[in-house]
Parts: sequence; C-alpha cells; structure tokens
Amino acid sequence: MKILVCGGAGYIGSHVVRALVERQYDVVVVDNFSTGHGGAVPENVTVIEGDIRDQILLKRVFEEHTIGCVMHFCANSLVGESMEQPIKYYHNNVYGTLCLLETMVEYNIKKFVFSSSAAVYGEPKILPITEETEKNPTNTYGETKLTVEKMLKWMDVAYGLKSMVFRYFNAAGAHSTGEIGEDHDPETHLIPLILQTALGLREKISIFGEDYNTPDGSCVRDYIHVLDIASAHILGMEKLMSGGDSNIYNLGDGKGFSVKEVIEKTKELTGREFKVAMAERRPGDPATLIASSEKAKQELSWSPEHSDLDNIIKTAWKWHLNHPQGYEV
Ligand code: NAD
Ligand code: UDP
Repeated sequence: MKILVCGGAGYIGSHVVRALVERQYDVVVVDNFSTGHGGAVPENVTVIEGDIRDQILLKRVFEEHTIGCVMHFCANSLVGESMEQPIKYYHNNVYGTLCLLETMVEYNIKKFVFSSSAAVYGEPKILPITEETEKNPTNTYGETKLTVEKMLKWMDVAYGLKSMVFRYFNAAGAHSTGEIGEDHDPETHLIPLILQTALGLREKISIFGEDYNTPDGSCVRDYIHVLDIASAHILGMEKLMSGGDSNIYNLGDGKGFSVKEVIEKTKELTGREFKVAMAERRPGDPATLIASSEKAKQELSWSPEHSDLDNIIKTAWKWHLNHPQGYEV
C-alpha cells in the first residue's frame, strides 16, 4: 500500500513526504508545480506532474499504484488573492478536491488526510480556539477550506470515506538539515519575510498594524513547526489505516507571539540588524489567534516537539542561509 501525497512538492507537503520516507512508507507525489518545487522532493520518490482536476491523470495514478491513503496539500492559499479571485480559489480548493474525492470513491480508496486552516474560524471571540469554536471565515480562502470540511462529512455518511482534517495555525520552520524549507513566490508569511530582510534581500520588514488590542499592539499568532505538522499527519494517517473514524484536529503550539516579538527574537538569534517599519493594518487580520491542540495531544498522542519559537527561527534561518534564493528547481 502506498501513500499518495497531492501537493507533495510544496512547503508542508515536502516535509510530510520526507517524514513518510524516513518511516519507510512508499510514497507517490502528484503535483502541478504551480507553487511547488522539484528540488523539495527526495529523488527516490515517484513524482507525477499533473493537476488534481485532471481525472484522467488521477485514474492512471490509481490504476498504476495501489494507494491506501491520500494526503491532500494542494491549494491556493493567499488570503488577499482569494478575495480578488474567488473563482480561482473555488476552482482549485473546492472543485479540485471534489475531483480527487470522486476518483478516490471510484477506486474504492477511503482514507483521506486534509490540510485545513485556522482561517475557518475567522475572528474568534474566545481564546484559545478549540475545534468547537464557531466557524466564521472572513475570506474566500477560509471559506473554501470550510466547504471542503463540510463535503468530507457527507462523503463519510454516503461512502464511508474516512478523513482526518488538520486545521493548521501558522506553519513555520524548516527541516533540521536545512535541506528543505519554505519557498513561496510571492512570499507573504512573516518569518520567511523577516529572514529575507535579515539576509539583506529585502530593504525592511513592515509591521502590519500596532494598534491591535494585544500587549504590544501588533498581532499575535501561534507558530507551529512544519515537522510537528508532519508528525501529526502520520499519526492521523496511521489512525485511519487502523480503522479510526473521521475527525478534525487543530494543530498549534498553544502559545502566542506578537509580530514585534518574532522580529526581536529573529534579530537576537541571527545576530543581524535590519530595518523595521510600521505599516497599515492588513485587511482581515484578526488580532490574536491561539490554538488549543489538546484534542490532537490526547487522541493522537501528538506532541509538538519542534515548535518553540527559537527552534522555528533557527531551522528556518538555516534553510534561508543555505538557499537565499530558494530552490533551484
Ligand atoms: P504550497 O503552495 O507550498 O504547497 C501546495 C502544493 O500543491 C504546491 O506544491 C503546488 O504546486 C501544489 N498544487 C496546488 N494546486 C494543485 C493542483 N490543482 N494540482 C496539483 N498540485 C497542486 O502551500 P503550503 O504552505 O505547503 O500549504 C499546504 C496546504 O496547507 C495548503 O492546502 C494550505 O492551504 C494549507 N495551510 C497552510 C498553512 C501555512 O501556514 N503554510 C496554514 C494553514 C493551512
Ligand atoms: N505580518 C506583518 N508583516 C509582514 C507579514 C505579516 O506584520 O510583512 C503579520 C500579519 O499581519 C499577521 C502575522 O504577521 O498578523 C502573521 O502573518 P502571516 O502572513 O505569516 O500568517 P497569517 O497569520 O496571515 O496566516
């Protein structure tokens, strides 16, 4: 039985692929390389270039490989872009997932692990955020993730398709070797942007708003190391493979850091000085997002071992120092 990783050449998918290979799983990757990188996938892994909306391609994959479980990381995930181009987001994130699920059902493959997001919650009234917190997405991106979550519920009812949904908070950090890491173009995430500034590749890092209702006025987020996300996926997949039921889990570290704190910590750990500027609030940013991940800890025996902020920044810094321009391919 092989594991099919859709979007395995992307930031999070590539770390999961590596973790699966390290645990001796046989992995097949499907990726259209819209945002992924060939250099992010180990050479001994079968990579099929193609789009999940191409059901002829998916059928070929399921004919040629005996797939036990599908892990699905493909998405467009830029919040601002999702507000300007909702059709693009529904087409890839919702219709694309539907194509994948439809083909899975046709081939009787009924284990599915899905990348959802804290964006399904919107601006929560109560912290920390549990899986039961009201879902109220404030952007198209979050809405597409919630739509897929709802689809998955009915796929289970009708077809017995079992799914593990993981709602990630702020994925960050890189593999401890510094060989793979985050390489998005355009980059929008805070930590890689700060590190690119520390490297001198950007003139300054902007703090988007300092008048939020938080201790220092800048937004507070829960940063979770990509290797801890990877370990949760493997635990979730193994639970499904041993007969576990569908479920939904938050993945965060349960601690919040402000934008200013992350910038100061990066200066300290890199030893680099760089320019910091104040900027307007970014539309749609909630003041504080902090997860409760007690459910994943209790039910999956998951423990986020890599997620202290120092380790997140140190591992991401190693990746950026080794690959200042990102992947070559
Ligand atoms: P990414 O863009 O680095 O990876 C996505 C991968 O999927 C890329 O390799 C891309 O080429 C591929 N892809 C996209 N659409 C495809 C399609 N139609 N067919 C085939 N391949 C396709 O993104 P990421 O940061 O690794 O995020 C992975 C998943 O996690 C996404 O679903 C994202 O919404 C979700 N997520 C990410 C974060 C985060 O902080 N990075 C937080 C919450 C949720
Ligand atoms: N942020 C910032 N400057 C930047 C990029 C991000 O101040 O150049 C802030 C952003 O407003 C948010 C936090 O950093 O409060 C994390 O943003 P990111 O885009 O990394 O993740 P998000 O929380 O939006 O998923």
